[in-house]
Amino acid sequence: MSDEKKTYRRTRAVQAGIGQDKAFGAVIPPLYLSSTYKMKGFEDFPAYQYSRTRNPTRDVLAGALAELEGGYGAHITASGMAALTLVLHLLAPDDLLVAPYDCYGRAYRLMAALAEKGHFKVAFLDQYDEGAAVAIAALKPKMVLIESPSNPVMRIADIAAISGACKDARPDALIVCDNTFLSPILQHPIELGGDIVIHSTTKFLNGHSDVVGGAVVAKTKELWNDLDFWANSLGLIGAPFDSYMTLRGLRTLEVRITRAQDNAAAIAAFLEAHPAIARVYYPGLTSHPQHALAATQQGGAGAMLSFTLKGGKREAKRFVDGLRIFALAQSLGGTESLLNHPASMTHVSMGAEAREQAGVSDNLLRLSAGIEHIDDLIADLQAALEQALPSIQGK
Ligand code: PLP
Repeated sequence: MSDEKKTYRRTRAVQAGIGQDKAFGAVIPPLYLSSTYKMKGFEDFPAYQYSRTRNPTRDVLAGALAELEGGYGAHITASGMAALTLVLHLLAPDDLLVAPYDCYGRAYRLMAALAEKGHFKVAFLDQYDEGAAVAIAALKPKMVLIESPSNPVMRIADIAAISGACKDARPDALIVCDNTFLSPILQHPIELGGDIVIHSTTKFLNGHSDVVGGAVVAKTKELWNDLDFWANSLGLIGAPFDSYMTLRGLRTLEVRITRAQDNAAAIAAFLEAHPAIARVYYPGLTSHPQHALAATQQGGAGAMLSFTLKGGKREAKRFVDGLRIFALAQSLGGTESLLNHPASMTHVSMGAEAREQAGVSDNLLRLSAGIEHIDDLIADLQAALEQALPSIQGK
C-alpha cells in the first residue's frame, strides 16, 4: 500500500465519527449508554436493538481500528485477554495452535489451560530462528499466534515468512498477530499476511492508562462474521464508555507514539552505554540480533524496551527504588513512563521453567517510554543507576 493511502487511513481514523451527529450536530460522536433501542413497531427492527449485539459508540471505535489496520471490520472487547479468548473460539478440538514460547504470561497460561481442557492443541515454539517459518509450517497449524516484538525481550518474528509458509502448507491457516506493542501506526500485520490482528487497547491505543479494553480486527467479512457470532454469544464485548474513552485516546495515537518512540530510542542508547547495564533489548539498536528484520517489517522501533542490570534481583530492586519519575507498574503504553519487573509481575504466571526459556531473568526490567521530556527521563535513570551502582561494582 502507498504511503499516501496509509496516511489517509490515519487521518480517517483520527476523524472517526467527527461531525456526524444527526441529533444536534455535536462535533464529537456522542456516547450511547442505552442498553436497548426503541422499535418503530412490531417486526420493524432499527439498526441498533440491543447493546450486547451492537452499540453505536463501540461501532465508531471498531470502524476506526479496522481502517487503521486495513481490515474489513473489528470487534471491541472488554480487555486484550477477551480479544484473545474471542479469537481462540475459532479453533476446534483437533486444531493445532502454534504460539510463541515467550508471549505475554497470562496469554500463555490461558492457551495452556484451554488446551489442557481439550479445546484445541497447542505448541509453544520458537518463532524467531531463521528456520522458524519452515519448522512451524511443517506442523500444518490451523492457527499461528504471533506477538512481535515479543513481550518482554523484544524478539522479532518474520510475519510475512511465517504466514507465507503456513498458508502454502495449509491454505486455511489463520495468522493472528498481537499488535499491542507497536500499534497500527508502526506495524500493519494484515499487509504482511496476517488474517486477524488483536490488541490490548489498554495500552497505546487508549494511551492514558485509564481504560482496560481489547480489539480484534478481521481481514475478511467471513472472518468478521464468525467472530461476530462468538462475540455476541459469549458476550465478549467492550463497554460503550470505554469505547468513547479509547476513541478519544486514539485521536492522539500518532503524536503520542512518535514522541514516546523518540524517548525510547534515546533511553536505549543511554542504557547501552552505561557500565551498570548488562544488555539492552530494543529493535532500534544495531546490536539487536533482528535489527534488520525490524527495520523492514516495522515502521519504527516502538516505545518499548527491556534491559538487564549487572547483578541480580537485589540490584534491580535497588535501582527501581531509586527512580522518581518512572513508576513501577504492570501495564505499558501510557503517556507516563513505566517500568515493570516481568519475573515477579507480568510473567509470573508462566512458571519458572517457561520464564527461563523465554529469557525472563530476575535482573530483567521492561520499560515503557512515555511522552515526558527526555532530559528528565535520562536524569532519573542516571540517578537511580548511580544509587544501585556500588553493589553492582562489588560483583
Ligand atoms: N497482549 C499483550 C502483548 C499484552 O502485553 C497484554 C497485557 O499486558 C495483553 C495482550 C492482555 O491485555 P489486557 O491486559 O488488556 O487484557
